[in-house]
Amino acid sequence: MADQTGFLKYERSLPPRRPVEVRLLDWKDVYTRRENGEDPLFPTAEVRTQAARCMDCGIPFCHHACPVANLIPEWNDLARRDDWQDAIERLHATNNFPEFTGKLCPAPCEGSCVLNLQESPVTIKQIEWEIIDRAWDEGWVQPQTPAERSGKKVAVVGSGPAGLAAAQQLTRAGHEATVYERADRIGGLLRYGIPEFKMEKSVLDRRLDQMRAEGTRFVTGVEVGSGRDGDPTVEQLHADHDAVVLAVGATIGRDLPAPGRELAGIHLAMEYLPFGNRQALGELDDPPIDAHGKHVVIIGGGDTGADCLGTAHRQGAASVTQLEIMPAPPDLRDQGSNPWPTYPMVMRVSSAHEEGGERLYSVNTEKFLGDDSGNVRALLLHEVERVDGRFQKVEGTERELPADLVFLAMGFTGAQREGLVDALGVEVDGRGNVVRDDEFMSTVPGVFVAGDAGRGQSLIVWAIAEGRAAAAGVDTWLTGESMLPRPVTPTAVALR
Ligand SMILES: Cc1cc2nc3c(=O)[nH]c(=O)nc-3n(C[C@H](O)[C@H](O)[C@H](O)COP(=O)(O)OP(=O)(O)OC[C@H]3O[C@@H](n4cnc5c(N)ncnc54)[C@H](O)[C@@H]3O)c2cc1C
Ligand code: SF4
Repeated sequence: MADQTGFLKYERSLPPRRPVEVRLLDWKDVYTRRENGEDPLFPTAEVRTQAARCMDCGIPFCHHACPVANLIPEWNDLARRDDWQDAIERLHATNNFPEFTGKLCPAPCEGSCVLNLQESPVTIKQIEWEIIDRAWDEGWVQPQTPAERSGKKVAVVGSGPAGLAAAQQLTRAGHEATVYERADRIGGLLRYGIPEFKMEKSVLDRRLDQMRAEGTRFVTGVEVGSGRDGDPTVEQLHADHDAVVLAVGATIGRDLPAPGRELAGIHLAMEYLPFGNRQALGELDDPPIDAHGKHVVIIGGGDTGADCLGTAHRQGAASVTQLEIMPAPPDLRDQGSNPWPTYPMVMRVSSAHEEGGERLYSVNTEKFLGDDSGNVRALLLHEVERVDGRFQKVEGTERELPADLVFLAMGFTGAQREGLVDALGVEVDGRGNVVRDDEFMSTVPGVFVAGDAGRGQSLIVWAIAEGRAAAAGVDTWLTGESMLPRPVTPTAVALR
């Protein structure tokens, strides 16, 4: 039984981030590390107090809002009781990688928490992180090898959170899962998109070690279906495996075809961020795209833009401005158009925003202006207003914004067609997503789809949920039935 009155006794509180002036000197996590079993700035007693704010309200809206259907009130209460080992068992029952979500999830659960009716939800994401990080420290996260092997082989193409979740579930169900990744390291956007200061790569690596010990195989540096010498062909993929999971992400960045786009110094965000990640890990001293001493403009106000912002500051940018065409969101949700328990569309201040830079809203880029050498020197902007749902220029508001480096962080338009997707012959919908049924199978029998490749650009927690569900689909396809959980189906999601 949860503490029914904890929320009346205790205020919401979160661990402090490291001071800005200190954390900008390195690439490490913006939060302090645990020492001797706890965060020195946020001791276990405080985490337990925060967990005691969950009243186990009977209808857990948080659980419904969580894509992997985490059993949130159960593990909140176990954390409150100091029973961390049972807490990690309950957490792992629904989430293969709570360390990724505990660090990186935007926490729709907290948006739906009953206490968020008064804007002070339970710190669910933080408690999730505490449970799993402690479990790693204590040695409770061990390989889970299957009792029996099926002899069936599954290829998982793409090693982001969707591919990893599918592979871990399939390996544990007794199949031989091999993950193919075109990059030199495993992890997808967890490796080369999300910066070290949001989640250190050691957090990913310790999970990959567990997966290897369980029997999942990893093959890097191969782009399946590329047609290049040495890369596996689609025919080989089919011949060598009994089923395929396409977890190739939505990697095609949305471009901005404004005049001047061809100027040097304008890059898609995902052309820039992998270099920053390699620099953070000491693999690259002199990144080919470097914000050091430059005036940087980021077009796009979302997470990817914030990651460019934090990276540019750590490289020593002279200034960073982030542009957003939408108006600034309100500080508190609009209860009329965006009522609880829907996800609150409010102003968010990420760790990168705390570190500096300017955010401009309701602005559009008219064109990029260059110097005599063909480098970008400024953007020509104007303000916009919404008329009948469409953005219109506010006449007379044009102005130049100096820029030596511009990053386009305006989202992604879907999975890469050229190569594997085309070669497999799977159907792709009008939004660039690979079509799948409620078993997560594509239009080609035996080829399944999970994560951003099927749902479009989304979140890590959704990728994990879909990877788990697709694994259940594959298991059923291979054996006629499955005990694996199915946290989501595309139809159920469409109805949500
Ligand atoms: C910069 C950035 C920051 C983000 N931050 C957050 C965040 O803080 N929180 C959050 O929840 N979400 C965040 N997201 C979104 C999140 O990262 C994605 O939704 C998630 O990674 C999707 O997982 P996935 O497994 O479907 O694909 P991905 O992670 O994109 O992985 C796909 C993998 O497939 C590989 N691949 C593609 N084609 C082939 C092929 N033919 N052969 C072999 N390999 C192939 C790619 O190289 C890639 O490694 C962020 C996204 C970006 C771009
Ligand atoms: S995975 Fe995300 S939505 Fe689910 S409990 Fe964790 S923070 Fe909340």
